[in-house]
This record gives sequence, structure tokens and C-alpha cells, in this order.
Amino acid sequence: MPQDNTILLAHGGGGELSGELIRREILTRFKSRELARLADAAVLDFPGGRLALTTDGYVVRPLFFRGGDIGRLCVSGTVNDLLVSGAKPLYLSLGIIVRDGFPLADFRRILDSIAATAAEAGVEVVTGDTKTVDHAAADGIFLTTAGVGVVPAASHLDYAAARDGDAVLVSGTMGDHGVAIMAEREQLGFSSPVESDVAPLNDVVAALLAAAPGARCLKDPTRGGLAAALNEIARACGRTMVIEEAHVPVREAVAGACDLLGLDVLAVANEGKIVAVVPAAEAEATLAALRGTPRGREAAIIGRVQDGPARVIGVSALGGQRIIEMPYGEELPRIC
Ligand code: MG
Repeated sequence: MPQDNTILLAHGGGGELSGELIRREILTRFKSRELARLADAAVLDFPGGRLALTTDGYVVRPLFFRGGDIGRLCVSGTVNDLLVSGAKPLYLSLGIIVRDGFPLADFRRILDSIAATAAEAGVEVVTGDTKTVDHAAADGIFLTTAGVGVVPAASHLDYAAARDGDAVLVSGTMGDHGVAIMAEREQLGFSSPVESDVAPLNDVVAALLAAAPGARCLKDPTRGGLAAALNEIARACGRTMVIEEAHVPVREAVAGACDLLGLDVLAVANEGKIVAVVPAAEAEATLAALRGTPRGREAAIIGRVQDGPARVIGVSALGGQRIIEMPYGEELPRIC
């Protein structure tokens, strides 16, 4: 923790600094076993069964980017957090904070995108709030959401459930969203044909769970990328995740952009991908099921869980090993 008595941009990066802030300032004040799991959504007991509840804020810049916009992002991010918790997404809330002077045409375009993505994901926006602020308080529009879904009785997904020998899969290429956003930031001085992968993953998760009834856990590798997602699972289950780095699917243009910017592609954000840990015996069927969906065609088995300390090890094509650390701060703020 820096000595400054202020919040830094890097505290929102989804890495080590974010985790420290959450553990020291939030978990100490809100004593909840469910909150302390730090999962994508809380899974809550109700008289009629279990509900999943999640909440998110969206501050991406620019608002419109190759492959998506802040509206598609807010629905997809919320729906995906419910899906990876084993829930069927049902309802969303939508909070809007928009600055004085914001173009009405952009406002309409964002709302249309929210409506279209909600229809695609089979969810309904059922409550909301709209606030305006002056120029000094915001540079555009911020969105906040809550999402509610119902969790089937048989669902048992939990990061802590990963076992030695389990297989680790991803549903497609890594780093597309982060690179698409970075390419839009004029000051970075590079352009790229890469589109954001932002999408609701209902069909991908449904296919996966049908093929892997014993699935241990799913996670959406958003901020902090695959590196953060794997480290969170490793810490929760107290085991080592071993990743064959050559098996991690990465588009050539994404790899090139990461080289140019000096980034580890494994730490770059995704908004339309999942990581899954499944029993080894279900790995091949899971892979085939993922590849049978339009958004899962480039799915891959990338590694395994093994006995050992809670950490993530990357193995190169030549057999060299490195620790894949939890990203510390943030490569670039306002990626989602
Ligand atoms: Mg998540």
C-alpha cells in the first residue's frame, strides 16, 4: 500500500492493489462470509432456493470502441458474473450518471445497445436511476448495474473446489478487449484491427456445464486478465495452477500489440471469455462442447491443477518455468 493517504487509479485495476484495498478497507467493515469469498456474484439462500446477486460499475473510455460500447459492456459484464456463478441471469438494475452537456444521440445509442444486449442475454432491466452531474464531476457517462439470477439446486461451483489433477480451460483467445480499448487511446499511437470480445456468454456456459457436470469453478478473466483469475482460484483452493503458455490462444495482432506496449497478454482484460476448472475425465468433452459454440471455437485446454503452494506457474514451449504473478496495479485505467 503506498504511503499516500489517497486512492490511486491503480487501486481499481483488479490486481494486488485492488485486493489489498478490498481486504483492508472493505472486508474489515462488512463482516459477511459470502462477501469474503470475493466471487463474481454472491449466492444467497432464500426460502424458495438460491439467488445470485452481483453489482458492477462501468467507466470505460472511450464509450464506443471496436466490437462494442459501454452499454454492451455493462450488460455482458453483469450477466457473465452471474453465469460463472452457476446462475441463470434474470434481472438487471441500471444506474446512469451522466454529465451536463452529454450528446443525446450518444445517450440513445448507449441505451439501444443495452436493450439489444439484454435481449440477447435473456435478461430484463427492471429498475434504474438516472443522475446528472456537472462537467468537473465526470467526462461522459458512468453506468452501474446489479444483476440477479436463480441458482439451480444442483449447482456447486466454487473456486475452492479445484482438486489436484483437474484440467484448466479457456473458452477462447486472451487479451482481445484490453487491446481493442488500448488501440482507441490516441496517445498510445498504435492502431489495431482487434475487436473487443465483449459478449454475454449464456450459450458458452450452458454448453460447458452440460458437458462437465463435475465442473469445479468458472471465472470471467476481466480486469487483471487470465493472470488475476488464475491467481484468485489458486489462492481459494490452496493449490498450484500449471499453465502451458503455448496452449493459451492469443491472436497474432494481440500478441504484437502486447509486445509493442510491453504488456503480458495474460494480464490483459477479456469481456467475453471464461476460465473453467473441470475434472480431468471431463476435459475433452468440455473442450468439444465449447468449440461447438460460436464464441467458443478457439477454446483450449491450457493446464492443470496440482498439489503445491497457492500459485500459478507458466511453462514455456521449451519447458522453462516462471511464476505468473497476480498483476499489481493496472496497465491502463478505465478499461471496463
Ligand atoms: Mg467477474
